[in-house]
Amino acid sequence: MVYDVIIVGAGSMGMAAGYYLAKKGNKVLMLDAFTPPHEEGSHHGDTRIIRFAYGEGASYVPFVKRAGELWQELESLANENLFLQTGVVNIGEPTCDFIQNVKASSALYDLALEHYSAAEAMNKWPGLFLPEDLVACFEPTAGVLRVEACIRAYQKLALEAGASLQTNEKVLAIQAGEIVQVQTVHNLYKAKHLIVTAGAWATELLQTMGVTIPVTPTRKTFAWFEADEELYRDENFPAYCFEFADSTYYGFPSIDGAGLKLGRHDGGEVINPNTPLRPFDDADLVDLQNFIHQFMPKHGAIKYGKTCKYSMTPDEDFIIDFLPKHQNIIIAAGFSGHGFKFSSAVGEVLAELIVDGKSKQDLSTFKLNRF
Ligand SMILES: Cc1cc2nc3c(=O)[nH]c(=O)nc-3n(C[C@H](O)[C@H](O)[C@H](O)COP(=O)(O)OP(=O)(O)OC[C@H]3O[C@@H](n4cnc5c(N)ncnc54)[C@H](O)[C@@H]3O)c2cc1C
Repeated sequence: MVYDVIIVGAGSMGMAAGYYLAKKGNKVLMLDAFTPPHEEGSHHGDTRIIRFAYGEGASYVPFVKRAGELWQELESLANENLFLQTGVVNIGEPTCDFIQNVKASSALYDLALEHYSAAEAMNKWPGLFLPEDLVACFEPTAGVLRVEACIRAYQKLALEAGASLQTNEKVLAIQAGEIVQVQTVHNLYKAKHLIVTAGAWATELLQTMGVTIPVTPTRKTFAWFEADEELYRDENFPAYCFEFADSTYYGFPSIDGAGLKLGRHDGGEVINPNTPLRPFDDADLVDLQNFIHQFMPKHGAIKYGKTCKYSMTPDEDFIIDFLPKHQNIIIAAGFSGHGFKFSSAVGEVLAELIVDGKSKQDLSTFKLNRF
C-alpha cells in the first residue's frame, strides 16, 4: 500500500498535521517511536504558554493569531477546555529586545497590552517582587494550553477523520524518491509525500538520508513549588516570562492546585536524544530556586522537578520547509523551546504545503536556506 502522506513523529506538530491532512481526504499514516502524548520528547509537563504580543519578533504574530483561532476550533470540536485565559505578564528592562518586541507586536497588530511599573505590578500581583528597573507588559488575552490534552484531542480527531497511527514504531531510515520508503523497526512503509516532525530526533533521522540540519537537542528542566493559592492560583496570578541580559525564565500560576511552575528557557546541556536524560538534580534546583526566591518570594518548598528536550536552531527560529533536493519531503523541526503554541497552525500549514505546494502563512523566516 502506498500512503498519500507518512508523518514521522506524531507529537505536537505531527499529530496536528495528521488531522488536517486526513480532513482534506488524504490517506495518512502517522508513525511514532513512543505512544503520544509521552514524556520522552518535548510535549509533557501539563502546560504551555500561548502569547500573541510576541517577544521573539512581531513577524510571528499572524502565525500565532491563526494558531489561537485553531485552538478555539479544536476546543469546540473536541468539546474540551484546552486553553486557560490566565493572561501572560512579560517582565524585563524596558529597553531589552524582548520587551521592545512585545510592545511592537501589540502596536502593529492592535493586541491588548497593559503596562505596569515594578511598583504597580507588585500592587496588582502581591505574590511578585520586582526591582524598580524592571517593567511588566501584561497581555490579558494570552494564557495556557493543556499540552497533553491538546495532543490527545488532535489524535482523536485525526483517527476519526481516517488517519492511521502506529505507536512504538521507531523509524530507522528514510529513502527519498518519487515514492518515499520508510523503514521502521517492524515494517517498510511507502508514501507519495513525507513529513518529518521528529522533534529532538529530527537531525539524526534526516542524517539517514544524508541531509544535515542545524538542530541541536538540549536537556531542559522545570519544577513545581508549593504555592499560597490565594496569591498564586490561576485566577489571581498570570503565566510569566522574565527576560534578563544573561537568562530567560518562564512559568505558570498554580493550576488545579499543582503549585507554581518554573523553568529556565536559555542554556541547557547538548544531548544525544537516545540516551536517558540525567534526572532533575540539586544543581537544576539551585538555579530555579535563586530565581523564585528573588521574584516570587512568597512561594513554598519545591514539590518536584522534571526534565524535557528542546530542539534548538542557531537563531531560535523554526524550520518549516521542503527539502531542497526532495520536493515531496517536508521538515518541521527546531521549534527551539517556543513551538507548542503554534502547533495547531503548523499542522494546518503542513497540510497546505502537501496539498497546494504553498501556504497562506508567510513561512519565509523558517526556510532551510537561511543557514
Ligand atoms: C519544558 C518545556 C517547556 C516548554 N514551554 C513552552 C511554552 O510555554 N510555550 C510554547 O509554545 N512552547 C513551549 N515549549 C516548546 C514546545 O513544547 C516544543 O517546541 C514542541 O513541543 C515541539 O514539538 P515537536 O512536534 O517538534 O516535538 P515532539 O512533540 O517531541 O514530537 C516529536 C515526536 O517525534 C517522535 N519521534 C522522534 N523520532 C522518531 C522516529 N525515529 N520514529 C518515530 N517517531 C519519532 C517522538 O516520539 C515524538 O513523539 C516547551 C518545551 C519544553 C521541553
